[in-house]
Amino acid sequence: MGKVALITGVTGQDGAYLAEYLIKKGYTVHGIKRRSSLFNTDRIDHLYQDPHESHRNLILHYGDMTDSMNITRIIGDVKPDEIYNLAAMSHVKVSFDTPEYTANADGIGTLRILEAVRLLDLVKKTRIYQASTSELYGLVQEIPQKETTPFYPRSPYAVAKLYAYWITVNYREAYGMHASNGILFNHESPLRGETFVTRKVTRAVARIVLGLQKEVFMGNLSSQRDWGHAKDYIKAMYLILQQEESDDYVISTGVTTTIRDFIKMAFNEVGVEVAFKGEGVDEVGIIASIDEAKFAKLVGEEQLAMFKKRIGEVVVGVDPAYFRPTEVDILIGDSTKARTKLNWTPEYDLKALCQDMVANDLNLMKKEEYLKDGGYRILNYFE
Ligand code: NAP
Ligand code: GDP
Repeated sequence: MGKVALITGVTGQDGAYLAEYLIKKGYTVHGIKRRSSLFNTDRIDHLYQDPHESHRNLILHYGDMTDSMNITRIIGDVKPDEIYNLAAMSHVKVSFDTPEYTANADGIGTLRILEAVRLLDLVKKTRIYQASTSELYGLVQEIPQKETTPFYPRSPYAVAKLYAYWITVNYREAYGMHASNGILFNHESPLRGETFVTRKVTRAVARIVLGLQKEVFMGNLSSQRDWGHAKDYIKAMYLILQQEESDDYVISTGVTTTIRDFIKMAFNEVGVEVAFKGEGVDEVGIIASIDEAKFAKLVGEEQLAMFKKRIGEVVVGVDPAYFRPTEVDILIGDSTKARTKLNWTPEYDLKALCQDMVANDLNLMKKEEYLKDGGYRILNYFE
């Protein structure tokens, strides 16, 4: 019999990659999905099996991190060997608008899982992974950040996650639970939510070069992030739960890059050189030159003829609406512990990640439905 895993947040970026990974390893995966008025299972539709099929390896349950009885009932029914608690209101900027909900789902939600495992007498059977975050370091006290670096959260999201981090440690120490924190630095992919900075940029690059959009407005271009690929990071989650002893681990690449440089890299993927000039809210990114052969091959001859006329024009602007009340200026992780103890090494570097995301968004935006409806809809305002 294979193991049984329960993933909260299975419809999210990490949940989708992790579900696929565990199913390939022979697990039966149960996932918790919130009720929504429209389908939001795009990321896991390829794994879906009709409930009438026998021997299903992906089973979905309706649930919500803010509903203790629901969480307790599901855990009691499933009796998982491993719980991956990935569900969260995961957007830092939005957490300033919905701080109470964020505290409930991201902070107390973790307590609900831990307490359910305790009440249901599953402490010896069930191992728990908590999706902790580099946002805990916030106003960084040390560069690079490692497991022993003090936390200084800078958003309602990070403060909620701080509670979740410590309650996980506390239940481990108090009740001997196999409960671990993965302190994951930013990780991205073609499945990343459209309002996180990397995906916002790769979508915009695809739309701009296809002539579907003139420019993109960004927030703080100078902040720096340590970005990895979600496909590498979900492997670390799995490894953390396979250890005999539970513990906390930083997962990162050790390379940090500004938002500005990521934008340049993304345009470069399709042969466009963008140069930045100006400062603060007046800073703009301008098309400096085009590698015509590369552009024509990846985007198209017809688009090249149009785009050449735009050399010297602005494609990136700054809108202070995207600034955060308190910012995390620099994140760079030291994942030596994970690399030595878990034997974890990421396969993707930032260039490979960026290439994967731009290629995916270019294909997506070339599809007829995007060309027709603009494919941007309300996101323009909310990202
Ligand atoms: P994501 O794509 O935003 O996915 C979040 C998941 O949580 C979605 O399935 C979402 O459901 C679900 N969810 C949100 N609120 C919920 C609630 N109240 N009850 C039940 N489910 C709820 O996030 P991700 O990038 O995969 O990240 C996974 C986890 O790692 C999150 O906890 C995040 O905070 C944390 N983390 C992420 C990063 C990163 O860089 N990606 C770094 C460090 C830590 P819907 O699909 O219905 O919205
Ligand atoms: P975070 O690190 O979890 O907040 O992930 P994000 O991808 O949302 O943001 C990463 C960094 O990009 C933060 O420092 C943001 O302030 C910065 N940033 C700059 N412009 C934007 C933007 O337009 N959208 C988002 N989401 N972030 C932006």
